[in-house]
Amino acid sequence: MKELRYSHSSPLKVIYVIVLLSISGYVCSEKIETVKITFLGTGTSQGVPVIACECGVCTSSDPNDKRLRASLLVDTALNTFVIDAGPDFRQQMLNARVKKLDAILLTHEHKDHIAGMDDLRAFNYRSQAAIDIYAEERVQAAVRKEYAYVFSENHYPGVPKMELHNIDSYNLTIKGDTFIPLRVFHYRLPIYGFRIGNMAYITDANYIPEETKEKLIGVKYLVINALRKEKHISHFSLGEALELVQEVSPRKAYITHIGHQMGKHADVNRELPVNVTLAWDGLEVYCED
Ligand SMILES: [Zn+2]
Ligand SMILES: [Zn+2]
Repeated sequence: MKELRYSHSSPLKVIYVIVLLSISGYVCSEKIETVKITFLGTGTSQGVPVIACECGVCTSSDPNDKRLRASLLVDTALNTFVIDAGPDFRQQMLNARVKKLDAILLTHEHKDHIAGMDDLRAFNYRSQAAIDIYAEERVQAAVRKEYAYVFSENHYPGVPKMELHNIDSYNLTIKGDTFIPLRVFHYRLPIYGFRIGNMAYITDANYIPEETKEKLIGVKYLVINALRKEKHISHFSLGEALELVQEVSPRKAYITHIGHQMGKHADVNRELPVNVTLAWDGLEVYCED
């Protein structure tokens, strides 16, 4: 039997095919150009339902009242990113059927945002490479401490492989995609939100400085955190989040990092302005211009 081999196409033939595909609109189709976000988790640090809680939200049968820890999948024409990798990271990767991960961006070092990174191993096996992690220096130090076995000199061969990269207040270009880091405050802790194109993602904040608000000008899709209706020391309340939405005036705003005290998804959504909705796990949004 004759052995089958992949033939190497000549460069001219490749160019001809690319031109044909471009003319037919197959390459650079609009859907691919648009940033797509998927809410992997929309819950506060404990998730919803809360263990052992018997409140109306925690016992609700509405699937939208089940919230994994806050995390966002960002698909661009070039890359797949995840913002934060909390304790539900494994389940979130399975739910969204993520096969390739180009980088993780971390907003801050609290457990509900970094606890799932041991499961990066699956992506290491697939890509045979370390996963790039972007975080500011303080957060990197926390990751090194939390995952000391990953960064120790003589480590066990099966440990996850991650490569830490710095974030500062300047634009962050990762493999051809540019994020704008957004400095916000989680009580006294300075943390980052991220803008890519016309979408901004801010979680765990309760204060946004003026210079960051300037970076939100022109945002059409705003994701903002709100824990509950009552005021909280380190998270926006629903009312405070709605004030920010009014200021930024996006086409659409999505609330995330929601606690069980917020109330039932369906009830709260009925009370919100038309351009605002509580996000839910699995919600996909194409951030069209
Ligand atoms: Zn959090
Ligand atoms: Zn509850």
